[in-house]
Amino acid sequence: MAAGPQREILRDPWLKKQKRKLLEIDCRGRVVLPGLIDSHTHPVFAAPRLVDFEKRISGASYQEIASAGGGIRSSVAAVRKATRGELAERVLLALNAMMAHGTTTVEAKSGYGLTTKDEIKSLQAIHDAAAQWPGTVAATLLAAHVVPPEFAGKDDEYIETICREIIPRVARAKLASFVDVFCERGAFTLAQSEKVFSAARSHGLGTRAHVCQFTPSKLDSLLSFQPASLDHMDCVASEEISALAENGTVATLLPGANYFLGHHDYPDARRFIDSGVAVALASDYNPGTSPTLSMPFVMSLACTHMKMSPEEAIAAGTVNAACALRLHGRKGSIEPGKDADIAVWDVQDYREIAYWFAWNRCSEVVIAGQHVWSSTRS
Ligand SMILES: [Zn+2]
Repeated sequence: MAAGPQREILRDPWLKKQKRKLLEIDCRGRVVLPGLIDSHTHPVFAAPRLVDFEKRISGASYQEIASAGGGIRSSVAAVRKATRGELAERVLLALNAMMAHGTTTVEAKSGYGLTTKDEIKSLQAIHDAAAQWPGTVAATLLAAHVVPPEFAGKDDEYIETICREIIPRVARAKLASFVDVFCERGAFTLAQSEKVFSAARSHGLGTRAHVCQFTPSKLDSLLSFQPASLDHMDCVASEEISALAENGTVATLLPGANYFLGHHDYPDARRFIDSGVAVALASDYNPGTSPTLSMPFVMSLACTHMKMSPEEAIAAGTVNAACALRLHGRKGSIEPGKDADIAVWDVQDYREIAYWFAWNRCSEVVIAGQHVWSSTRS
């Protein structure tokens, strides 16, 4: 992309040659931002979890729902039954809806298959959908989401399967850029998470983790793998935060989950920002705990419930999120040489994007220099 004063840009030799093909979008009175980057999503699922939703309203906790057979495991049964084509269709629907909310780059995880075959099917569905979508998709293997029912009580054996079978096959087929793990009570221990990270590293894949969502955890052993991002981070000790800053790892905060679970507490963004940690915001789009794909809504939650300023929320959904995906060389800002991924907002002041909460003000989307979406055409 070229960026700068109009007179200079029009002198660009390539632009001069293409002059006839150029489309001019009049953005006067509107706000132009880099395309938003949603750096944490779980789009490969087959159905919403409405029973869980109702149970939670009547007082059941996340852990109680999981032990009653709901939660992640109920999504697993549905994904195993679904075909690759059915899943790809759902992923593409989500990607298009994300684009209509200004999102041009998405990280998408597997994690509801939990067998070699079904995790590969999920990642293939992500790739099939991404091939039909103009934006950029970074795929992540999340086989270590929860212990599947057939491995109940044998979680170390499941970890072995992930490390010896699933990760090598996914790496060989180039189906993912990252490996993720849910390091949490009721999911996987720190020692098991380290094994997963170690297998990922030896197969040339990047690492990221769900950690400290419900219970605190030491982070130094995970940080030694140089993960691109640690996500959720609701309950983190202060000494862990300084380690994070030193390591250059992004903290990706996911307030959509706190909102939907009805929590009063939100991740303490100020502690991270004031300690020099780069904070990213993401939707955590998933059927159990965060069925939203609206980054503007997430940015609004960050302002109202996490005391982030509107500027900080925008940086967290663009340039910092690009770092969380190791795509900052190409994405996250409007700069010469980067991909021309741009979202235009039908507001006069950038602060309005988070101010008009749960209201999508995105009006145009440009991806790689192509005008791909307009609110007036949809
Ligand atoms: Zn997640």
